[in-house]
Amino acid sequence: MSAVPLRNDQPAINGPRSITVLGATGSIGDSTMDLLRLTPDRYQVEALTAHSNVEGLAKLAREFNARFAAIADPARLDDLKEALSGTGIACGAGESAIIEAAARPADWLMAAVSGAAGLKPTLAAVDRGTTIALANKECLVCAGDFFMQRAVDAGARILPADSEHNALFQALSSGNRAELTRVIITASGGPFRTWAAADIEQATLEQALKHPNWSMGQKITIDSASMMNKGLEVIEAAYLFALSPDQIDVLVHPQSIVHGLVEFSDRSVVAQLGSPDMRIPIAHCLGWPDRIVGPSTRLDLAKIGQLTFEAPDFERFPGLRLAFEALRTGQGATTVFNAANEIAVAAFIGKKIRFGAIARLVEATLEQWVRAGNLAPLSSADDAIAVDHNARKLAASLLPQIAAKAS
Ligand code: NAD
Ligand code: MG
Repeated sequence: MSAVPLRNDQPAINGPRSITVLGATGSIGDSTMDLLRLTPDRYQVEALTAHSNVEGLAKLAREFNARFAAIADPARLDDLKEALSGTGIACGAGESAIIEAAARPADWLMAAVSGAAGLKPTLAAVDRGTTIALANKECLVCAGDFFMQRAVDAGARILPADSEHNALFQALSSGNRAELTRVIITASGGPFRTWAAADIEQATLEQALKHPNWSMGQKITIDSASMMNKGLEVIEAAYLFALSPDQIDVLVHPQSIVHGLVEFSDRSVVAQLGSPDMRIPIAHCLGWPDRIVGPSTRLDLAKIGQLTFEAPDFERFPGLRLAFEALRTGQGATTVFNAANEIAVAAFIGKKIRFGAIARLVEATLEQWVRAGNLAPLSSADDAIAVDHNARKLAASLLPQIAAKAS
């Protein structure tokens, strides 16, 4: 049994639905609120959350007349109270308030906190057995099997919101799971797709933040430039759809029009296409099992003219190779992969390491973790959080030597 519903065999949803958005002020949050804005009468916003952007959160909470607003930074509670004064909107601060927001009754929840911080709140929603549009890939990368099993146990439905996984989700409904032989997720290749390894090594933050097709949050944009994002997505696909690493391929597709493809036993390949606009996969999740009217640009293939594809280069983009290795290792290795990458990206943003050192820090952390015999199955959120915490510490301790070492 899977927590990802495979066919559109659910009853249509009529009347207004209650909605919670975790990470409402972020890039995915923004796209989600944009969709709600189209037909506000259909939705009652239950809860909205943000990390520290009180102004942005309060503005949204007022606009959508949310019942509850939560800010993760505990120091901002008074500011949030003041920003919401006179509205009757309840509010809270700190991690517990984010978890409370997720636990409040809502029919549909967008999980769009960035990073491993999304795990606990998303689990609080899973435990309610609700419908979750999952953008936060770290829930799967850090806690994979355990997260999906808990969703099955609680009767929660996980709707993949990440564009590639949403494409697979849509394409999968044209066959049965037993008939599935392979999935392919596409990658734009990022801003360094055609760069030589030596230039990628020295790439600046400004260059890494120039994504050719997608407009996204800072962390995921850097991950796209290093192709770590595609690595995270390979792991995400493995856990979401219970696939072995051999059943997942990555295809570089610079136009970002074909997002994911599913191959069935008869060698039919079914793909999902669309403009590179996150509102398309989010709209699919929001409408599911029906379709809503979306605001995105219509796909004009004649205008685009050519769709091109190439094999990924595991040498210039070692993050992708490391993701497959971590997935094959299992037992918390993907959690370590993610934790080390988060430390590495923060160090790169802080100008402590070069772009090329991101993958080297992840590799060194994984190697040391495995050598120390730390591998064990994860059976709880606390297990995953402990591995995440310890791997971050290890990565931080390895940082100075990686920073000092030339490529
Ligand atoms: P973002 O940085 O733009 O927004 C993150 C949101 O989470 C913000 O509202 C922020 O306030 C909140 N947040 C950050 N840290 C928090 C914490 N510790 N506790 C509580 N809230 C916190 O990120 P994003 O680009 O919207 O991405 C969100 C998630 O969706 C990530 O996991 C990302 O990998 C995934 N995703 C994003 C895209 C995209 O196009 N942006 C596509 C696919 C998947
Ligand atoms: Mg994606």
